[in-house]
Amino acid sequence: MILRQAAFQKKIPFLKGGLHCHTTLSDGKGSPEATVRHHAHMGYDFLAITDHRRYNFTNFAPDTGLLILPGMEADRFLDGSGMQVVHAVALGPETGNGYTDGQEVLYERGGLAVDCQDIFDDIRKANNLAVLAHPTWSGNTPSDVLALQGYDMIEIWNTGSELDWGISDRGYHWDVLLSAGRRVWGVASDDGHALQENGFGFVRVAAEKNVASILEALKNGEFYASCGPEIYDFYIEDGWACIHCSPVDQVAVRNFTAPHRVVQKNGITAAQIKIRDCCQDYIRMEVVDEKGRRAWTNPIFL
Ligand SMILES: [Zn+2]
Ligand SMILES: [Zn+2]
Repeated sequence: MILRQAAFQKKIPFLKGGLHCHTTLSDGKGSPEATVRHHAHMGYDFLAITDHRRYNFTNFAPDTGLLILPGMEADRFLDGSGMQVVHAVALGPETGNGYTDGQEVLYERGGLAVDCQDIFDDIRKANNLAVLAHPTWSGNTPSDVLALQGYDMIEIWNTGSELDWGISDRGYHWDVLLSAGRRVWGVASDDGHALQENGFGFVRVAAEKNVASILEALKNGEFYASCGPEIYDFYIEDGWACIHCSPVDQVAVRNFTAPHRVVQKNGITAAQIKIRDCCQDYIRMEVVDEKGRRAWTNPIFL
């Protein structure tokens, strides 16, 4: 029997999209128009302009053909030591998303991460999808991410965290959630503030090029996250995890409580890894290419 991950069941071309970036409308350095043009130039099909505390629907360069997903990044500064925060990206439909274009959305400082459930509740009540952004940079602990409910996705790669702060997400919080039975999908995002910080982390979504189709596919896990490598198929057949991809040097099966040895070889385009018997909740796969760039499938639940 074959269990195929949802992204690869549809057999339609993947769209390349960015779910998190900033412009001069908040603390970004590129103008909104330059940001749209830059992504179109890099071959993106869609982009959410998610400035801090400001909901956007506008396409600042519609002649590029780049599709804009309505969205924003909401946040709260928390009490306590350091600068703990919770940041959440909202992605919504073109009509009925609960916000007006350019609306300022503010959350007062205070409380702990677990007190930020209201942010996710508001986003969902407004018919938007929610992404928990850069949990490692934010100082969110595994118990924080478990306590917060109602987000559809979590960032497992954030280019800004990597380039500006040297902080990696890499899926640790994600595996904690998955092993607790949470159906949360992993996304790679740029969170680009300077223009040149964009183009390193994106999603490839099995959808038609319209907002409704893309949101539906994101909600259903019909996509994968990447910093470069392409994934063409991911399925389980008779206890083996199987992947087809662009040439990579490392393939891994990931499960929180059952480590699997990686397969390493130059130019792998197809690999099978035997799933350990003790692995009973989910598996996902990761690949790394010769430049060290990763791609992550979403999980198959066992
Ligand atoms: Zn943020
Ligand atoms: Zn951001």
